[in-house]
Amino acid sequence: TPRIFSGIQPSGHLTLGNYLGALRRFVERQEEGIATVYCLVDLHAITVWQDPEALRSQTREAAAAFMAAGIDPARSILFNQSQVPAHAELGWLLNCVARMGWMNRMTQFKEKGGKNAEKVSLGLYAYPALMAADILAYHTTHVPVGEDQKQHVELTRDIAAKFNHDYGVEFFPLPEPVIEGPATRVMSLRDGTKKMSKSDPSDMSRINLTDDADTIAQKFRKARTDAEPLPGSMAALTDRPEARNLVNIYAALSGETQDAVLSRFEGKGFGDFKPALADVAVATLAPISARMSEFLADPAEIDRILGQGAARAEQISAPIVARTREIMGMILSR
Ligand code: ATP
Ligand code: MG
Repeated sequence: TPRIFSGIQPSGHLTLGNYLGALRRFVERQEEGIATVYCLVDLHAITVWQDPEALRSQTREAAAAFMAAGIDPARSILFNQSQVPAHAELGWLLNCVARMGWMNRMTQFKEKGGKNAEKVSLGLYAYPALMAADILAYHTTHVPVGEDQKQHVELTRDIAAKFNHDYGVEFFPLPEPVIEGPATRVMSLRDGTKKMSKSDPSDMSRINLTDDADTIAQKFRKARTDAEPLPGSMAALTDRPEARNLVNIYAALSGETQDAVLSRFEGKGFGDFKPALADVAVATLAPISARMSEFLADPAEIDRILGQGAARAEQISAPIVARTREIMGMILSR
């Protein structure tokens, strides 16, 4: 039976990239009636420094964003990772299955570690193995993610296949990444070759789900672009990453094709395009941020929902991880 698992790190404010590349798709899967498990991956967030109070409020804010976007905690399992011990536990077991050479090939570690590779946490390096544990602890079949996470889901398949092979079992299903539709990689507003990220030091590089209409308009107005007018089709935008990104965002928000958007703006400059883009962004985001505020007015209720989700998540994952230990030769007598 199909089961969806995916997560988002509560490492800052959720962005338009997280919404278009992940959250919006999470809601679609839920609406299809598939079993959906969605996790606020706080154990991943601490791979880089998080102020404790900020981490707590970011986690509640992320939970509010999920529910505001349409995740129904009665139909989807919604919880924070650290409340379910299966993740850290299976993470360790899979650290002993994953190979150093595989981890060394992960491009995101190189991007986030940068030139400081000696100073980043060991956890940042091991993070893809914990992500494999997150996915495999639920015998997940499909993982909706943005384009940037494709490599980690493929690593998860490699880890699952090696486990099955080494222990001579057909235990972990190999999960499929689900990366489809528009805007699976939204780019930074400051640099069209970098992806938009909630942990980017520049707040101007991204639209946050909590930004008000004026901030959204200002961020798009200041977004980096070239001085050329817009062409009539995407084919003419290959060498203009910033322009391509803004058209891509517009199309993803309005539900049109990129060429349909361009046919309306052909010959126009960014002075016309950017305010129109801000309008479609506000039309989508304003109701979400209003609902987020309502949820955030009652943090105790959010915590209660996350606790209930965690209890349901544990029911699925605890037996799978216990069986994993048993397969590996550990005594299981309680
Ligand atoms: P961080 O900078 O802390 O890594 P992030 O913005 O990359 O934050 P993640 O929590 O790492 O967010 O990823 C959550 C989900 O959002 C993943 O499925 C990821 O692929 C997706 N995602 C992240 N950034 C983008 C983006 N710019 N465009 C589309 N999808 C994205
Ligand atoms: Mg990320």
